[in-house]
Amino acid sequence: MEWLVILTGVCLGSFLSLVSYRLPHGGKMAMARSQCPVCHTTLTPRDLVPVFSWLVHRGRCRHCQAPISWRYPAIELVTAAGLLAVYMSYGVSPQAVLLMVMTLALLVMMIVDFEHYIIPDEVQMTLALLAVAYHGLLGTHPAEPLAGALLGALIGWGLQTGYHRLRKRDGLGTGDVKFLAVAGLWLGAINLIPLLFFSGVLGVLTATLWQWLRRGALFPFGPALALSLWICVLWPRVPFFFFHWPALFLE
Ligand SMILES: [Zn+2]
Repeated sequence: MEWLVILTGVCLGSFLSLVSYRLPHGGKMAMARSQCPVCHTTLTPRDLVPVFSWLVHRGRCRHCQAPISWRYPAIELVTAAGLLAVYMSYGVSPQAVLLMVMTLALLVMMIVDFEHYIIPDEVQMTLALLAVAYHGLLGTHPAEPLAGALLGALIGWGLQTGYHRLRKRDGLGTGDVKFLAVAGLWLGAINLIPLLFFSGVLGVLTATLWQWLRRGALFPFGPALALSLWICVLWPRVPFFFFHWPALFLE
């Protein structure tokens, strides 16, 4: 079963590359990968086998030898790893299916934000609908996710305006503010605190990485938010531990 999940993962990963290419381009250049961007040769299934085609042809186009970005096999492998993590914790269940779709949506969000510094509304809507379905499945009282969404929006708006007042420039994008509302919908109000903590730490790491890569002072915050949400939703013990670790020393 693990191999089936990995295989599905790499195939979906190559689909995600396509989706995350299409979304910011408004659907234009629809078939980003089915022809070589350099020699325009139409690619056959042989060129499109996830990970393997890239490895076998040593990261080059089979026809013109133009280098093909390592990001394609990387996205395929990360997608497979993400789905495998869900399968390991939730097995084959309706919950697992929902969480796998959520994983895919978060990956699209990360890729697009890394490259274009935006979080598409399509992704936010998908994540919001998935959260509603997830709570429906678990039978959560609606007050909890609603309070979370409200608090998330409020915190996001507060951080955005606060930063703008203090530093006289934009710190948090509107996409990030909307995402905090969506994250609240998933987590409820209380667990937004560990989410903010983890995404703060991951945000500092992203900023350091951005400086190291010399990609400018502006760095995407979406990937840090996405990864934190993914961890907090998949393993509720993580936010639980965040609040309860002092108790371990008192016992
Ligand atoms: Zn080519």
